[in-house]
Amino acid sequence: MPLLVSLQLALYALLWGAGYVALKEERPAILQWLGYALASATATALLAWRPDGPVWLTHTGSSAATLLSLVLGGRGVVRFLGLAPNDRLFIAVGCIAVVGLGWIGPYDAASRVALATALNIVVLMAVFLQTRKRFIAEFGPRIAVLAAFPTLALVCMNLYFLAQGLMRGSVAIAGTGVVPVATWGVTLVSAAAFNYLFLFLVGYRMQQSLQRQASHDALTGLPNRRAMEQRLQLEWDRSLRYGKPFVVICADLDHFKRINDQHGHATGDQALIAVAKALQATVRDTDHVSRFGGEEFVILMPEAHTERDGVPLADRLRAAIAELKLTGPAGQSITPTASFGVSGWLASDKDREHVLRRADNALYEAKDQGRDRVVLKAE
Ligand code: GH3
Ligand code: MG
Ligand code: MG
Repeated sequence: MPLLVSLQLALYALLWGAGYVALKEERPAILQWLGYALASATATALLAWRPDGPVWLTHTGSSAATLLSLVLGGRGVVRFLGLAPNDRLFIAVGCIAVVGLGWIGPYDAASRVALATALNIVVLMAVFLQTRKRFIAEFGPRIAVLAAFPTLALVCMNLYFLAQGLMRGSVAIAGTGVVPVATWGVTLVSAAAFNYLFLFLVGYRMQQSLQRQASHDALTGLPNRRAMEQRLQLEWDRSLRYGKPFVVICADLDHFKRINDQHGHATGDQALIAVAKALQATVRDTDHVSRFGGEEFVILMPEAHTERDGVPLADRLRAAIAELKLTGPAGQSITPTASFGVSGWLASDKDREHVLRRADNALYEAKDQGRDRVVLKAE
């Protein structure tokens, strides 16, 4: 049993090693977890070596390796969630461990176990409290509860040993210091839960990020054309069913090429980001702003009374862009403007492309009429 547990932990180290090579983005966390798996494999291997191994290694050494594994595992969780590890606390814990465990020595089992488990609990609880909120925010309460399970199981086990150590007072180990089977069980299960959970979360995060990349524009963070078309289909279906029109607003920045030519592509990019922010800040939560391509944006507004309802919104969006004050690389002021075409769903429309095309034609008219304006095409 002890050797099997140790071997299993060593296998996790191999897994994290492979993860380190394959997953660049998660390297800071994976490196910590690799260290955690190696330290915990070492700790259990030292336990398994009792009673034949040197007593300093199999007792004090295994306590220290366990504490180190918890610090590294915890630091990994903190980094995985994009937080800064509380290294001052970990260093303090490390110093207390070195001095305290060294002073107690390997023969006073009760005091050694009491000190080691108390420090384990401090590390586990510090990480748990630091990461709890961020965990819920990223993965939701259900996965957060699952993730808390291995930590809390370890806290309980450590509390049990702490109580035992304190109650027994100063006791010398009776030769072997055999580890109870329950300890192996909890170690095995909580290590499996911890490692598989975080392997799963690494994959889950990757999948979420791929999904986001497929539907969002990398520069502005807005939904992309593909996402807009999906939403357009949804609004189309809704309007067909309930007879309430949706509005499509097409926007295109005016003479954007000039901004690029005069101030450089990077400034053009900054202008696009600022415009995207202004659009997003002006619409309601139920409206859908997307980057259709280049310097073109499409805004979908559901549940309008008529397509005319889109005109006041387009005007607000136009004003929001015209109010932007951007500066070029040499401090020159840049005042972007945009033209808007507005249209909406009509019961006579054959398909969703018709609505989009009408709004696009309205946009062309706005450009023809001199730009920085809103044109409505009602039929
Ligand atoms: P108009 O008023 O007629 O719309 O003139 P315009 O210059 O805005 O139109 P045109 O379509 O000729 O030029 C669009 C420009 O937008 C050209 C292209 O380089 C620039 N553009 C498209 N995507 C990006 C981008 O991601 N970043 C930057 N910086 N520029 C972009
Ligand atoms: Mg343009
Ligand atoms: Mg254009």
